[in-house]
Amino acid sequence: MPYTLIKNFAELLIIIFITTIIVYTPELFPRCAFCGHTKARWAFSLHTHTSLSLSRTGNKSVCKKCCFNENITTISDLDKKKEIKSRVKYKTKYTLR
Ligand SMILES: [Zn+2]
Repeated sequence: MPYTLIKNFAELLIIIFITTIIVYTPELFPRCAFCGHTKARWAFSLHTHTSLSLSRTGNKSVCKKCCFNENITTISDLDKKKEIKSRVKYKTKYTLR
């Protein structure tokens, strides 16, 4: 009897551990919205929640390197820079020969 109890407890602990990893991975290893790289949390200076989604789509984060290189201090700066980047990409793709 104690063996099955210990086995059930171990299974419960493993399930809780895996669930915790799945739920907290987007918080511990977010993806940069500017360069698209996945890094550890301490490499980010901006990190906010934009929706109730538990995945990486619910967060908006910018790494320290992109903040330093592109002079991003707020999330609205990020939106502006992304818009500018996409417009430049579109123009260079369709107007230059
Ligand atoms: Zn980045």
